[in-house]
Amino acid sequence: MKVFTSTLCTTMHTPQYEFLSGAETHYYESPERREVILKYLQEHPDSFEITERVEDFGLDPISKVHKKDFLQYLEHAYEEWIEEGGHPNGVLPGTIPHYKVARLGKQKASNVLAKSGEYCFDMSAVITKDTFKAAWNAAQVTLTATKDLIRVAEQYEQSIADGATSRENPPGLYALVRPPGHHAQTDVCGGYCFLNNVAIATQWLMDQPNLKGKDGGPKKIAILDIDFHHGNGTQEIFYTTSNPLYTSLHSNEDYPYFTGSDLEKGEGEGLGFNINIPLPHSTTDDEYVETLEKLIKDHVLPYDADYIIVSLGVDTYKDDPIAGFLVTSDAYPRIGNAIRKIGLPTLFVQEGGYCIEKLGLNVGGILQGFLAKA
Ligand SMILES: [Zn+2]
Repeated sequence: MKVFTSTLCTTMHTPQYEFLSGAETHYYESPERREVILKYLQEHPDSFEITERVEDFGLDPISKVHKKDFLQYLEHAYEEWIEEGGHPNGVLPGTIPHYKVARLGKQKASNVLAKSGEYCFDMSAVITKDTFKAAWNAAQVTLTATKDLIRVAEQYEQSIADGATSRENPPGLYALVRPPGHHAQTDVCGGYCFLNNVAIATQWLMDQPNLKGKDGGPKKIAILDIDFHHGNGTQEIFYTTSNPLYTSLHSNEDYPYFTGSDLEKGEGEGLGFNINIPLPHSTTDDEYVETLEKLIKDHVLPYDADYIIVSLGVDTYKDDPIAGFLVTSDAYPRIGNAIRKIGLPTLFVQEGGYCIEKLGLNVGGILQGFLAKA
């Protein structure tokens, strides 16, 4: 499996601390996360081919998903923060416009202290000096992998036509990036996320003029979000459209708390194309894998997509320090294999997972499970 990554994902975004349950703690979405996953991949050269080749797709695909004023804010927030006397650890909102208080549109944010609340929904997305560059880089790495997805998908179709392979052996690619993306909305950051890598990749695929789906329209994409937390950002970005299909398995009693209900089904043209499956903290290996298989059977396969994009989080792991079902490392190869059985070209994009000791093994388990023939 080809792996796309960049050293800048480690070096450019390094907040020193965050606040969890009222306490100051180290920043769980740490640079070390990428390092331990990379180490696992490097130790398995028969399965993974790592490249740091990153193409620059520019601002255009990012601005198709995120609003211009939000992008300008992210780019300049730290500089303005420091000018106004903010702490050098990074931009952290002190006042967030609560929906019972704010009258947005009437009272626009005038300085960075106000903007930090307007453009962020929690206290975990700390903006440091080079955070925008890191998030930009993560988006470009994901786009580079997405461009390659088109190539391997075409090869796959050709091999099937030639009788050289069957639909049971789909190609897979992996974008090892940070910061993650699935909590980032159109114009709000939060949950360690600034730019929504999966949404940017999905929109870019649909915008390729020469890439036609089975009905002559854009290619159809099914997003499978298997992070422990609900991907409120991806849901919001695609809530009113029937392409992509957004599906998510996540905790029903955890962050981000106010989204992820199974009653959130999409709106307008998007009604029925947003599938949330909330699960309790007590979820075990068998329960998780069986629910995923049912989700695939009931929703992903009938959608008849051309590509699968996976928001790959392993904070479902039982010992994850900020999350966790009762899921063990044994479940991850089974999860990967269930995704393989969909039979479609698949791009995995790294989201959460904070148990440093098992992070490489658990991410590697999903990818190896995808590669394993039944
Ligand atoms: Zn998560």
